[in-house]
Amino acid sequence: MLLAHRLEPFVKGIRPASQRARMVLSFILFVPTALIILNYPLGQPVGILQHGFHSAMSHASLPLDLAASLLCLASLIIMGRVTYSLRDNLPFVFTGYVLFLFLFFFAIERLIGRTVLWPQLHWLTYGPQWVQMLSSIMVAISAAVVLPHLRFKVEDSASARKEHDKFLAAAESSLDDFYIFDGIPDSSGNIVDFRFAYINPNAERRLNTRRENLLGKVLTEVRPFMLSSGLIENYRDVVRTGIPFSGEVFIDDEMIKATWIHVQTVKLGDGIAITSRDVTERKRLTDHVSYLAHYDQLTGLPNRTLLQDRLRQAILRAQRHNQKVAVFMLDIDHFKRVNDSLGHSDGDALLAAVGNRLLSSVRDTDTIARMGGDEFVIVIPDFKSVEDVKQCGLQIVEKTARPIIIGNREINITVSVGLCIYPDFGLEAEQLLKNADAAMYVIKDTGRNGLHIFTESMLQVGGTSF
Ligand code: GH3
Ligand code: MG
Repeated sequence: MLLAHRLEPFVKGIRPASQRARMVLSFILFVPTALIILNYPLGQPVGILQHGFHSAMSHASLPLDLAASLLCLASLIIMGRVTYSLRDNLPFVFTGYVLFLFLFFFAIERLIGRTVLWPQLHWLTYGPQWVQMLSSIMVAISAAVVLPHLRFKVEDSASARKEHDKFLAAAESSLDDFYIFDGIPDSSGNIVDFRFAYINPNAERRLNTRRENLLGKVLTEVRPFMLSSGLIENYRDVVRTGIPFSGEVFIDDEMIKATWIHVQTVKLGDGIAITSRDVTERKRLTDHVSYLAHYDQLTGLPNRTLLQDRLRQAILRAQRHNQKVAVFMLDIDHFKRVNDSLGHSDGDALLAAVGNRLLSSVRDTDTIARMGGDEFVIVIPDFKSVEDVKQCGLQIVEKTARPIIIGNREINITVSVGLCIYPDFGLEAEQLLKNADAAMYVIKDTGRNGLHIFTESMLQVGGTSF
């Protein structure tokens, strides 16, 4: 175990591709080392320690013996490292251990043989019983240490393979795009970029390239869009915080065949796993449905629903900043006559033209909405004085009364406008609209083509109380 820990830094990061080469190296080391062990008395270095340097030096073949001993030692160390480095590959690690133990056993046997008494000792042919016993005990101990390790390796490797196969089957057949990225750290260890580690067939189709072209490549180099969109920041955060990131992302990237994708990113070790799918069509539909729900088809203006929302927002803002909001209710006078005389489609064109004219009469921050029929509402938040707003209302009346060209005809219309001001005569959207409507009907009843402002007196004569 200690050896394993010591060796870990050396063998970390070894790729599967080099495992076979390492196995071959084991064999190459094994053969000469085995020959050396069987042919040279390895006990010379120990002999030096036991009998003193001079006595040992008198031996004629000392340099050769010494070299043989060192060579065997080096060989054993390298084989130990190689064996450990092959620990993830069961057949290789098994073969490695067998070779290593074989050499180790003979080396010990030869060391003892040379040092203790019998220079020509060979345990297979002759020798005292205790040397054989000691050797056998060593092999038994080594086997006892190695075999459970190998058994766990067999089990671990089998279940890991099973899990891996399951994952692969799920990922490969997934209808979503699926990616695994390894993190790339900067000098301080923070993950700043990612490297493609796996992409499934669907992702290959989405990116319009084979996975072989992407694996191992750096994400931001392959897709600079990650930087320009800021998406890489979200991915870095996922690794840093461990909190998954999920969202719809607008894709402005030539590489990817989609406009909107939904991305789900989770942390995976130092990297991330991403599941994504094309939601362009759904997004288009929901956007369209949302548009239909909030905008009037004829004029393109906000409809009643969106108006109420905008009016509420304006009221909340006005509340916070102690401001006023003006709400105009506008209705075209005798519009039925236009319909009757020109036809419904020209009536539609006139409604659209009135909408455009109103838009050009107000600021961008104001809201114009079509409530239905020939009725429009204008919301003006944040104005200077009631007098200003009144002038604005009169301008609207005057501007819409200018001739409008529909087809090749010139049409003259007038409008009746009612005005109610928040918070003076209404605190809620419904009250303001109702009171503006009541003010507008005052004009309708008194000859049309004008503006009326909801006042205190109208509260007494049927206006809405608040
Ligand atoms: P008043 O001066 O009292 O407002 O009279 P008016 O003729 O304008 O009557 P009112 O406002 O009550 O009716 C609006 C008419 O607008 C009713 C309907 O025939 C017509 N109208 C409603 N929606 C549409 C539409 O989408 N297109 C067209 N062309 N006409 C519509
Ligand atoms: Mg009308």
